[in-house]
Amino acid sequence: MKYQVNETGFYGQFGGSFIPEMLHSNIDTLQKQYLSIMAEDSFQKEFRKLLKDYVGRPSPLYYAAKLSKELNTNVYLKREDLNHTGAHKINNTIGQILLAQRLGKTRIIAETGAGQHGVATATVCALMGLECVVYMGSTDIKRQAPNVARMRMLGARVEPALSGSQTLKDATNEAIRDWINNPVDTHYIIGSVVGPHPYPDLVARFQSVISEEMKWQLKEQTGSENPDYIVACVGGGSNAAGAFYHYLEDEAVKLVLVEAAGLGIDTGESAATSVLGSMGIIHGSRTLLMQTEDGQIVEPYSISAGLDYPGIGPLHAHLIKSERAQVFSATDEEAIKAAFHLTREEGIIPALETAHAFAILDQIGAKPDESMVVCLSGRGDKDLSTYIAHLDGEIVDS
Ligand SMILES: *Cc1c(COP(=O)(O)O)cnc(C)c1O
Repeated sequence: MKYQVNETGFYGQFGGSFIPEMLHSNIDTLQKQYLSIMAEDSFQKEFRKLLKDYVGRPSPLYYAAKLSKELNTNVYLKREDLNHTGAHKINNTIGQILLAQRLGKTRIIAETGAGQHGVATATVCALMGLECVVYMGSTDIKRQAPNVARMRMLGARVEPALSGSQTLKDATNEAIRDWINNPVDTHYIIGSVVGPHPYPDLVARFQSVISEEMKWQLKEQTGSENPDYIVACVGGGSNAAGAFYHYLEDEAVKLVLVEAAGLGIDTGESAATSVLGSMGIIHGSRTLLMQTEDGQIVEPYSISAGLDYPGIGPLHAHLIKSERAQVFSATDEEAIKAAFHLTREEGIIPALETAHAFAILDQIGAKPDESMVVCLSGRGDKDLSTYIAHLDGEIVDS
């Protein structure tokens, strides 16, 4: 198993658990117990039932006929946008709230960028009756107002993070600080495949339901479990990890990641971690991150709050360095153009994050008899104000 985490929490040279003393006990408990708890019959029953009846799974696999014709290949969309709360994030928060309950925790904290993870966390806390605090950068609070309102309505307290670029990285710092101060009663629901071991593996396993379903859905529709390509946008990398998971060891299936180039990779206003990053430690994990020569984290930039992160999960750092996955990037403008195009062609308004994946489909070089699955990680409701600002038509190409 070349691409799974090893016993010490590493993917190749990436991963591990680099944490302050005060978190050792919590992380140690998680490391020792997560696999056995997840393997319990009662856990699996409750998890599967909630995914089905509450989240609405399985999410459809939709053959996009018009996109397929245009790209002269076969394009399938894995519709995570149709999940309850509008993105893939809920798969993970359902899993982690069940885990937190079994660990006896009564208080939940989370970080959020676009607000999708915050909403998904506030939702499961309402469902289970647990206290919920969500940290969010003040920049993101401004640009994702509908999700802030949803979290508050769900009963969560939204705490602004005021340091740095006031985005996802800063919210994560605040959440870690909270956990250090409240180690006994609190579980930290991390929203992506980042953070100290076992979080990247834990989150990947909860999200792996995406590729589990893709296998039988593809088999049903095409006669084969395997597509030629799987394409996903990458912030921390949880929707990509879920879409890749059951295909990781099968090298016939090519894995494609799409990161946010912001205003352009060389402009200094970007979040293209794999191109601009080098090995370092961020939020408890050794991975690729954007940093200066003396190790200061470089402030990332993307129009999309969910991709605006200076690091990438250690699994993906390993997939990229071992050339198992190929990376493309899309700028703000290309993503917005792709969002309008998908909307006009297929009648689906994607999240801005997801739109990055659609922006590069014509660069993959898929052949007419090949197929690709694009992970449609979320819907665009939260991004409408950004889209409306571009409705004047100058970059709309329909
Ligand atoms: C959060 C989010 C992302 C980015 O996070 P990953 O962990 O990389 O998946 C992508 N798409 C949507 C819709 C999101 O909400």
